[in-house]
Amino acid sequence: MVLKQISGRGLKDPQLLDAFEKVPRHLFVPPEDIDLAYADNAIPIGLGQTISQPYIVALMTHLLELKGNERVLEVGTGSGYQAAILACIVKEVHTIEYIQALADKARVRLSEYENVLCHTGDGSSGWPEAAPYDGILVAAAAPRVPQTLLDQLKDNKCLVLPVGGEGYQVLEVWRRKGSQFDCKTEIGVAFVPLRGKYGWK
Ligand code: SAH
Repeated sequence: MVLKQISGRGLKDPQLLDAFEKVPRHLFVPPEDIDLAYADNAIPIGLGQTISQPYIVALMTHLLELKGNERVLEVGTGSGYQAAILACIVKEVHTIEYIQALADKARVRLSEYENVLCHTGDGSSGWPEAAPYDGILVAAAAPRVPQTLLDQLKDNKCLVLPVGGEGYQVLEVWRRKGSQFDCKTEIGVAFVPLRGKYGWK
């Protein structure tokens, strides 16, 4: 998976590859899909949600330009896999999940990652209690970037999120520049919808 899907596609940061070597992805997929755990695609995790494709997890992590000393926020814990990858790279990860049953399962899987703090609730408004962050990653598709998430970024740090409707979105990277925000677009992606106050109704 690491050789073909991640470094083979140009993502070669040693810390990133090391995180993918360390986290056992098969512990984050439903037991009946264990054979597919390292395949090049997203996998359903129940309740209409998915664990993202490994390359997309890697790309979004890479786009946050992490060095190791950061505190980051992930919106959409899902299986917990993305949070575990981030935990291997940075100092502290806050992750928030809307669906209680998924949050409960992820909390168990993530209990051995001491630098991950799991929250349950509507992450479309972020997690202001621990803001500001050195990076924010949204793992569900938003209609547009929520200003409240941008407001929780530190200066010169990035927010990565898919923006668009059902089935197809564009990955956007927003960088704070003082009181302004620059936006760059990356590749087309397909995420489940973001719910909650700033998500899809
Ligand atoms: N990062 C996950 C993939 C998550 S799929 C992983 O590595 O497995 C997207 C997740 O976002 C789903 O679990 C969904 O329930 C959650 N979600 C959707 N809207 C949300 C919101 N407003 N706040 C928090 N989580 C949300």
